Amino acid sequence: MRKKFIAGNWKMNTASITGELLAAGIVKGLAGDTRVTVAVCPPFPFLSRIGQAVHGTPVALGAQNCYPKNDGAFTGEVSPTMLVDIGCQYVIVGHSERRQIFKESDAFINEKTHAALKAGLKVILCIGETLDERKANRTEAVLDTQLTGSLANITADLLAKIVIAYEPVWAIGTGLNATPQQAQDAHAFVRQRIGQLCTKAAADALVIQYGGSVKPDNAATLLSQPDVDGALVGGASLKVEDFLGIIRAAR
Ligand code: PEP
Repeated sequence: MRKKFIAGNWKMNTASITGELLAAGIVKGLAGDTRVTVAVCPPFPFLSRIGQAVHGTPVALGAQNCYPKNDGAFTGEVSPTMLVDIGCQYVIVGHSERRQIFKESDAFINEKTHAALKAGLKVILCIGETLDERKANRTEAVLDTQLTGSLANITADLLAKIVIAYEPVWAIGTGLNATPQQAQDAHAFVRQRIGQLCTKAAADALVIQYGGSVKPDNAATLLSQPDVDGALVGGASLKVEDFLGIIRAAR
């Protein structure tokens, strides 16, 4: 039985004090309940402070990105070992905003994935099609390319440290979520493909989150789909009550 996993991607939002209040509100609302795995992914400058706010609680700390080297002349970048050093357990890689705005390729995302895993982080790997790709019936082909490229040379033991977030680009930040059936179909495809690329056992154990305009009022139906094991939440993770509502729906 896969444990549901709800992660909040704060993106480039919050300030140090509002982030701390948000984290404290989530910790308080959870009241030690561990039925659902919960993580928050604040911006880099606040990781340390939010890490202190969630330390010793069921809320894990994640980062939104990393560079695939441990140190060196890479001005402005942050390494996986630095993230581990300040208490991160997770890192998001391959978010559509990084793919689209920063032109990150599957090969680069694969490098980040390997570097993050090697440093001891768990990886939330995002994949998803654009609206044009969906309209052209290319959803599965796109997911296939992203999975194959981003997960090159990932063995079953490494896959155990990876969560896949299926995030249709057209649903991110638009208020237009995928229907539960659309999410289920994509997740079932991902699981089946991982079974072929890796092993059936690894695919069965794989946690696949859905992301794209998840809110407290649509979370329960999305999360009740057999292959939807959680959610990667953007906008609704910035409000304590909304994020807690989604966690409640996952229980
Ligand atoms: C995201 O950024 O990963 C996301 C899913 O955003 P939102 O929930 O706002 O659509």
